[in-house]
Amino acid sequence: MSAQVQILFKNSTKKNSHTLKVHKEGGGYKQVEKAFGLSTEDIIDEVKRSGIRGRGGAGFPAGLKWSFIPKDNSRDKYLVCNADEGEPGTCKDRDIIRYVPHQLIEGMIIAAYAVGAERGYIYIRGEFVREAEILQKAIDEAYKEGYLGENILDKGIRFDLAIHRGAGAYVCGEETGLLESLEGKKGQPRVKPPFPANIGLWGGPTVINNVETLAAVPAIIEKGGEWYGKLGVEKSSGTKLFSISGHVNKPGNYEVELGIPMKTLIEEYAGGVRGGWDNLKGIIPGGASSAILPKEVCETVTMDYDAIAKAGSMLGSGAVVVIDKSVCIVKAVERLSRFYRHESCGQCTPCREGTGWMSQIMTRIEAGGGVEGDIELLGSICGNISGKTICALGDAAVGPIAGSIKAFREEYLYHVEHGRCMVG
Ligand code: SF4
Repeated sequence: MSAQVQILFKNSTKKNSHTLKVHKEGGGYKQVEKAFGLSTEDIIDEVKRSGIRGRGGAGFPAGLKWSFIPKDNSRDKYLVCNADEGEPGTCKDRDIIRYVPHQLIEGMIIAAYAVGAERGYIYIRGEFVREAEILQKAIDEAYKEGYLGENILDKGIRFDLAIHRGAGAYVCGEETGLLESLEGKKGQPRVKPPFPANIGLWGGPTVINNVETLAAVPAIIEKGGEWYGKLGVEKSSGTKLFSISGHVNKPGNYEVELGIPMKTLIEEYAGGVRGGWDNLKGIIPGGASSAILPKEVCETVTMDYDAIAKAGSMLGSGAVVVIDKSVCIVKAVERLSRFYRHESCGQCTPCREGTGWMSQIMTRIEAGGGVEGDIELLGSICGNISGKTICALGDAAVGPIAGSIKAFREEYLYHVEHGRCMVG
């Protein structure tokens, strides 16, 4: 397996890579023409063959998601791109928008054609002010050149695309919370079923995909689903952008094939752990909601959906946060627990109350006021939230706490017993 293949970032280092001119010089928008010569079923089959899984966090197969859209045209259908990117540690979609926005737009035109959507929206995180401007300019260019609008490339195919800027709520990254927000309401996730493929935006069948997923579509159409499927490893095909932050010497976004050993990713791409590999304490592999993996697991685990799940965490959005030995795990997790408490939309009781309780207990332990039984109490609250809420935020809040109690229990015990952290 070569970890060097670049699909998303292949043109990103060129000067003015965000412009339509440079995108076209690199072969851009040719795949729109190719896709329009194929049947919608053929495109969906090609994406299914590629095996690409949603890059936003859930990892649901994109081709399968597209195939759920009803074929009849009695209702308007929609394509929505999730560019909310609120998972702490994640900053990959921002770079796609910043450097290769036309790749995303091209992917969206193809996806919209495949599912029969004539309108699309890019729901972008409100804080991404500069990125929203770049994206709007790219959309304007695409309209001017006839890649968007009522009659794309004179083929009688319509796709209108607009940007919607979010207001900074983490829960709007959840697809139905996003739809509510897009409709102008409070961004509170919907009870599912029905799923958006059947009843989505304004009641119409809706596909929601992450920026990275959609930006990979032109390459799948160009080289074929089979070619893409051979990249990476079984059940985790293709390349993935990993946002690497924390205690590494070269933090940044790196595009590599899925299945790369975690240690290789950190040591060879991200410049290694600050102070050397032996200074590593643990790694968050897929954003703040994924459980921290201790060093001994990081030695051998590979960066693919199944391997990370088997190790007790999740690949999520691919936000890799490296934690060295200077960090008190209890303090780090306490900070995360405050985040989830703040971001709970309050709609369902286990999440609304549970995130508050967990945060209070974590703060108490961290401040030196922990009492016997606190760790068990945290475990019990985790068990009463997990799988019992409307959306995945409940599980996201549980992930770092339950995972760190399991992997770093001695730090919690020390905190409770001595009223301070182990690392001085
Ligand atoms: Fe809201 Fe939390 Fe329930 Fe999600 S799990 S709907 S964020 S209260």
